[in-house]
Amino acid sequence: MSCLFCKIINREVVSTIVFENDNILAFRDIGPQAPVHILIIPKRHISGLNGVTPDDNQLLGEIQNVAREIARSEKIDKSGYRLVCNCGQDAGQAVEHIHYHLLGGRKFGWPPG
Ligand code: AMP
Ligand code: ZN
Repeated sequence: MSCLFCKIINREVVSTIVFENDNILAFRDIGPQAPVHILIIPKRHISGLNGVTPDDNQLLGEIQNVAREIARSEKIDKSGYRLVCNCGQDAGQAVEHIHYHLLGGRKFGWPPG
């Protein structure tokens, strides 16, 4: 499997891991766009949001629970944060393993660029 994020899961590529359980891994983004920028991914390879099925409902819910807990531990839960999943070319998805960006620690603009 040549997927970069699968390699991070398998420890073939080094990352700064902040959370792990049987289904989910979270690690710091290598090019942070905010003081807190963490990627949350399922350990099972899913190419993107278009690859998700209703069978993944529990997994996606679990990812949101993990995001909330990490936001608390990173102390951005009160100030606010964003959870972003880029899907496809127009959204700028660069890695084809579904991932959620948890961003916080500064004020963000809206609409996004
Ligand atoms: P996206 O553009 O939504 O596909 O986001 C991919 C993200 O992966 C970008 O924010 C990159 O900075 C991040 N990234 C790429 N390689 C690594 C890596 N080796 N470790 C951590 N984050 C990475
Ligand atoms: Zn993968």
